[in-house]
Amino acid sequence: MMKIVLNPGHLSTDDRGFLGTETEGGNNKKTVALIKKYLDEYDCEVVIVAQDDGVPFRQLGLKHPDATLFYSHHTNAYNGKARGTEVFFHYGRSLAENIAQRTAEILQTVTRGEKGAKKNNNYFAVINQAVKAGVKYQLMGEIGFHDNSKENKLIVEKRDEIARAIAEEIVKYLKLKKKEVKPMKKDLDIAQRWAVDNGIMQDMKWDEPATRHQMAWWFFDFHKKFIKGDK
Ligand SMILES: [Zn+2]
Repeated sequence: MMKIVLNPGHLSTDDRGFLGTETEGGNNKKTVALIKKYLDEYDCEVVIVAQDDGVPFRQLGLKHPDATLFYSHHTNAYNGKARGTEVFFHYGRSLAENIAQRTAEILQTVTRGEKGAKKNNNYFAVINQAVKAGVKYQLMGEIGFHDNSKENKLIVEKRDEIARAIAEEIVKYLKLKKKEVKPMKKDLDIAQRWAVDNGIMQDMKWDEPATRHQMAWWFFDFHKKFIKGDK
């Protein structure tokens, strides 16, 4: 099963000029939790590696060398006027491009595009650690400028949409399949009991596979009795 490592950038208390009452680190953490929630519906293992949990910055990218993808989530800051999304990568160019594009649409801003990670410049160090560790794809998103009041507002308001778009792009890129939801034996027993109690199935047919004709009859009978109200 593919392993995906998500990193919320910074400690959640790190403000970094985030307007309003939130911090960049805090918003990164909430966004990453949502990305995980959406990815958890797919056949993959999702791990969050965070400085909040005591992992030093210098080790964030090294923790899971067996991962297929490492994604570090951030928002950007510059002079209060700069705007747009950009995603840095070492390997994973088209995924970086698509995440920048999708999130720019949600934030009603411009995409600054995908950019090759520069050598060991502050957060690029994390990407380069993941490269060194042997992780296949490594990205870092700067999803909007949190010191730009218009973008800051949408970064907070559209957090869920941003997280879902990022998860969807990862799913497409890694060709992940939806987790199969198999009912438990306990649920099957409840369903059977309900079907018998409501006259849809007969107790004696319990373990026999129903033919399509039988199923059709049971549904028809159920419809007559309970949906049309024809007693
Ligand atoms: Zn940051």
